[in-house]
Amino acid sequence: MTIFEKIAAREIPADIVYEEEDFFAFKDITPQAPVHVLIVPKRAIPGISGSQPGDAELLGKMLVATPKIARQLGVFEGGYRLVINHGKDAGETVPHLHIHLLGGRALGWPPG
Ligand code: AMP
Repeated sequence: MTIFEKIAAREIPADIVYEEEDFFAFKDITPQAPVHVLIVPKRAIPGISGSQPGDAELLGKMLVATPKIARQLGVFEGGYRLVINHGKDAGETVPHLHIHLLGGRALGWPPG
């Protein structure tokens, strides 16, 4: 099981802020902004590069939920950023697809 599957199964703790049947969101353990959550499918899709056509509906649902999650966390008005990392240069560390939602401060562009 990936670490995120274990969080989904409540085998290890996390601060879960949003949940639907097949995906959920929890606070990143090493936040890079005042608001930093990960939006994660409960079943392990091995990164965006490992996603399949059959995952499209779930990925779409996750993206469609992001404004609602951002509103709930109080960053919709100020603005927020969604990030999906792939590979070493992007700093991907967990092989289970996740969307970072970051906000609560001005985010630099281009990203570091
Ligand atoms: P990435 O580098 O894009 O693969 O993102 C993985 C993210 O997962 C990092 O921002 C980590 O801080 C975060 N992370 C790893 N383990 C946990 C955990 N147990 N609970 C919450 N966030 C975690």
